[in-house]
Amino acid sequence: MDFKSEFYKIQEAVESLKDSENKEIIKSLLLLIDNLNDKVEGIQVNVETIQENVEFLDNDISEIQEDLFEEVSIEDLEDIEDDFKEVTCTKCNKPIFIESSALESGISIPCPFCGENIN
Ligand SMILES: [Zn+2]
Repeated sequence: MDFKSEFYKIQEAVESLKDSENKEIIKSLLLLIDNLNDKVEGIQVNVETIQENVEFLDNDISEIQEDLFEEVSIEDLEDIEDDFKEVTCTKCNKPIFIESSALESGISIPCPFCGENIN
């Protein structure tokens, strides 16, 4: 149903009414309905705009996700894991991840928690 054409049809019918008191009431009701319709149309436009924006955001997020997962593969993660060794601080007993190459070179690394040197 097309609102505007239906509305004009009713408006015409009201104009041809004989009873002037009822005619005025119905005319003000029609005006009210017309105003409400304008508001609904305004809301519809806003909803469409919001939907479009959500779609854009969704696409942006998907692209970001793709980029993130593309750059760090499972193999990359395994490589990173291999590069680090978990050691326990002899003084505070906290686990610390140290680069394998640093451990192999024999240099002492200070514990980030207590400052004790770890070899
Ligand atoms: Zn420590």
